[in-house]
Amino acid sequence: QGLFPTEILDPEAMKRFGAQIANHLRPGDIVALVGDLGAGKTHITQGICAALGHQGEVTSPTFALVNEYTDSTPPIMHFDLYRMENAQELLDIGWEDYLERDAILIVEWADRFPELIPEGTHCIHIEHLPQGRRLSYDRV
Ligand code: ADP
Ligand code: MG
Repeated sequence: QGLFPTEILDPEAMKRFGAQIANHLRPGDIVALVGDLGAGKTHITQGICAALGHQGEVTSPTFALVNEYTDSTPPIMHFDLYRMENAQELLDIGWEDYLERDAILIVEWADRFPELIPEGTHCIHIEHLPQGRRLSYDRV
């Protein structure tokens, strides 16, 4: 995508960038957010969700594994694999069914279980800079 690579200097800009990404997403798309703890994955997610009409708050679903935002169009399923012990946990909560839904799937820490991530996933890599973050894109 033409939005990448780019440097984003603060958290608010990260949300605005998420809103720009949202313009390019369609139902069924999967967005993998790859970067360290504190990289800004949740901020990008907040921007995407707000742009697609979600009203409530957006926090990493660290304990639930997935937060479902059904007030956006399309609905957004927000995953965080950070605390997951093995791939089976995601399969147990119905990963295969989520893939069939006409929702947008956003997956923080997707790189922990690459075997779960389907071909065609939009992969956004976030690196820390002395000030801000560098974002790059590839499609797996
Ligand atoms: P993650 O979900 O990757 O752990 P968060 O979205 O929770 O990261 O953000 C972690 C911290 O980084 C927050 O304090 C946030 O304000 C800050 N942050 C996010 N994006 C940027 C940015 N582009 N530049 C500087 N700080 C940022
Ligand atoms: Mg997070």
